[in-house]
Amino acid sequence: SVVVAGSFNVDHVWRCDALPAPGATIAGRYSTGPGGKGFNQAVAARRAGAGITFVCALGDDAGGALARQLAAADGIVLAAEASSEPTGTAGIYVDSRGRNSIVIGPGANASLSTGFMAANAALIGAAGVLLAQLESPVESIEAALGIAREAGVLTVLNAAPANAPSTIGLLKLADVLTPNETEFAALLGRHVGERVEADDVAALDGASLHALCRKLSGNTVVVTLGAVGVFVSHDEERLRGDSQPYYRVAAEAAQVVDTTGAGDAFNGALAASLAQAPDAAFIKHVRFANQYAARSTESEGAAAAMPRMTPADAA
Ligand code: ADP
Repeated sequence: SVVVAGSFNVDHVWRCDALPAPGATIAGRYSTGPGGKGFNQAVAARRAGAGITFVCALGDDAGGALARQLAAADGIVLAAEASSEPTGTAGIYVDSRGRNSIVIGPGANASLSTGFMAANAALIGAAGVLLAQLESPVESIEAALGIAREAGVLTVLNAAPANAPSTIGLLKLADVLTPNETEFAALLGRHVGERVEADDVAALDGASLHALCRKLSGNTVVVTLGAVGVFVSHDEERLRGDSQPYYRVAAEAAQVVDTTGAGDAFNGALAASLAQAPDAAFIKHVRFANQYAARSTESEGAAAAMPRMTPADAA
């Protein structure tokens, strides 16, 4: 099974012709639904066939009730810390070209505590995989990763968003680190003094990308490259069943409608696959996650767009 530790947001989305300028009032097509990287990844992992417990913090409000209702509908077990803050929210404007402006109200997500992780140590320790992101307090994520590591649970850290605080100590707790290009460039700049433009990452040759990954982590790094696909870099001593220390997997062809949440789809599916077949070669998990993420881009939304597709369906 997979324990996902992270954020839940109620997303409020307005699709408009253009993003509003300061002082402007415009009209847009409104929709609302669940979001937050933690919840999106939990839904993806669940629909990819794994048993899921989602560790999060919720307010005593309509958003919290929505989280409970949606988790139940997807068969996700909730371990929710009760917060006196409102449940997390996101206000999202999307223009006709698909560009967005987003304001996050962390609310309850910001009160997910280290104490709550400690209280759930047995739950975390019994998982096959712990999957976490950085939309929650960094010390609580570090605590969860530490508890998992101690118990021999495989840890996957999606170091997102790119502007979240992190330390090299936190990164070391990840058996598998999964930044996208922007997050990868940010981590390189912050932690190992390497200046790389996010837009240049995908074009780097394999040996150079591998060397950059090795500076960041003594363990496996999976850099997601959007429509280009994925780059995988292993420590030479820990190839996780693969025959090569580094390689690329090209993105699957997709009838793209909305790439929001593609990274969340990838991370959830990767964790679900790792939990369901821990002895399979790592490349199999990556190929599945890559297929799963491509499918997720073929419908609108984040959590709502997560396909029902397990590694067995894909094989
Ligand atoms: P994020 O959503 O965090 O920015 P990426 O854009 O890197 O993450 O996308 C994550 C993964 O989703 C990619 O590595 C790839 O597997 C898949 N993906 C993203 N965009 C596409 C696309 N246009 N076509 C096919 N697969 C895609």
